[in-house]
Amino acid sequence: MAASILSRALGGLKRPAVSLLDRTYTYEELLATARRVSKNLAANRAKEDECVGILAESGPDYVVATWATWLSGRVAVPLSPSYPNKELGYFVQNCEAVKLLHSRSLATRAAELTGLVGVEPAIVDVEGSGDSGRVALLEQDHREDIEEALGRIDSDDGALVVYTSGTTGKPKGALHTHGSLEYQMRSMTEAWRWRESDKILHCLPLHHIHGIVNALYCPHFNSAHVRFLASPFSPERVWESLAVDDEISVFMGVPTMYAYLLSHLEGLSSSEPGERGNDHAKYARAAEKLRLTVSGSSACPVTVMERWEDISGGVLLERYGMSETGMILSNPYNTQERLVGTVGKPMPYVEVETSEEGELLVKSKCMMKGYYGMPEETEAAFVQLGHKGLYFKTGDCVELNEDSGVYTVKGRMSADIIKHKGYKVSALDVENVLLSHGGIKECAVVGIDHDLFGQAIVAVVVKVARASKSGSLDTLADLRAFCKDHLADYQIPQRVEFVDEIPRNAMGKVNKKELASKLL
Ligand code: ATP
Ligand code: MG
Repeated sequence: MAASILSRALGGLKRPAVSLLDRTYTYEELLATARRVSKNLAANRAKEDECVGILAESGPDYVVATWATWLSGRVAVPLSPSYPNKELGYFVQNCEAVKLLHSRSLATRAAELTGLVGVEPAIVDVEGSGDSGRVALLEQDHREDIEEALGRIDSDDGALVVYTSGTTGKPKGALHTHGSLEYQMRSMTEAWRWRESDKILHCLPLHHIHGIVNALYCPHFNSAHVRFLASPFSPERVWESLAVDDEISVFMGVPTMYAYLLSHLEGLSSSEPGERGNDHAKYARAAEKLRLTVSGSSACPVTVMERWEDISGGVLLERYGMSETGMILSNPYNTQERLVGTVGKPMPYVEVETSEEGELLVKSKCMMKGYYGMPEETEAAFVQLGHKGLYFKTGDCVELNEDSGVYTVKGRMSADIIKHKGYKVSALDVENVLLSHGGIKECAVVGIDHDLFGQAIVAVVVKVARASKSGSLDTLADLRAFCKDHLADYQIPQRVEFVDEIPRNAMGKVNKKELASKLL
């Protein structure tokens, strides 16, 4: 179960668990504080799957708040400090949290939020706890206390409510049990070969599944070390951290992060003498030395994949998954066998089917128990496939290569599959072609209702600042002429909108419905 992170921690107390800036915290330090904080939470739960909100920046306090919540037999609900309180109020009320654990630095925010929603706040402060630096932290009776608390946790008990990214609507809280999380961690450990000696540089938001389960719980399940990048994300800080710390072996990011990292590196010309040229070589070496570099949360453009391979000599491992199910499909661990533009095969403990319309359906031991407090939405999210059982409807359209067994994501059924003149056009396919034009920095392709075509294909484009080798791209005619060499006629956009920026959420995703509504 997820709490087995804590049983394993008891077996390697002196190992480094977390580092931030110039401080490293052992599993023992964090467990000692977590035990004490758990005592501040009422001993008896009023109900099953009782939730505790967590409001803390990336760092030791966040980890301790989760562990303390588990030790008290409750469900952790991570909240993002980057959201305004009004929005956080939605999450706190949606999951009916009974308490809010927060870091000292967010005390004012927490007081305002708890006042707003009528929940009690409690502080988590590893630095100020008096635990850090003490030699014998976990005395025998404390250890027994923790073991006893862990013994009371069942694998069917709720452990985490993780909210979906809200790309297609209001975020929904996927309730995972200790058991479903353990299967996720086992699945990723087997597929990506997590080991105790690993150290991950963590710079993902800690309120979505990618940052929480893949990049934090999974290394801790393996007694590995998580180095947090002090927020906010900056490509320069990531490169520097990778370059100065030889122990870092794993990096995980969303495609936009890789795009920013590449642009920064490419801006430091390798042929330039002096410091900038040196940095280029130093950062390229840092990328090369990573044993595992994973991309996910949205489709990674082929150009980003190719540029990364150019600098690091290896292909990024692209995988596909979601809050409700954990990771579903993954490229192989072996770099040579990875296929750019695909998301590979089912992960361990996961079975998939494809509906007639091309929707990916999933049955898995890693599956959520349901959407918190939304029985109707939960029921509607599953479909019974005869004797095969109950499958979760991902809402994503995929294509299977029957020979190799490898899947390609074509996009969300609701927004990326554009119905144009009777054809089904994948917005992701068109975006990949547009991004191969050197004059295009970013793009999003959407469908808007059209009297004759059903839907018209619109390309929303951010141009690169400087003119490119691929020639200029100033008009729809330029764009269509470029597309003619790479796409079928029915896939070519009928309209282009040049913009300065494409709005993205915390996970770098575009709400296409919202974007399309602005184009009408
Ligand atoms: P909401 O469900 O609230 O609209 P969301 O679906 O973006 O938000 P998440 O659960 O965080 O919330 O993201 C899962 C989705 O991300 C998948 O359904 C899929 O559309 C997309 N996704 C994840 N990885 C990939 C990938 N490698 N390629 C393409 N799409 C991906
Ligand atoms: Mg979703």
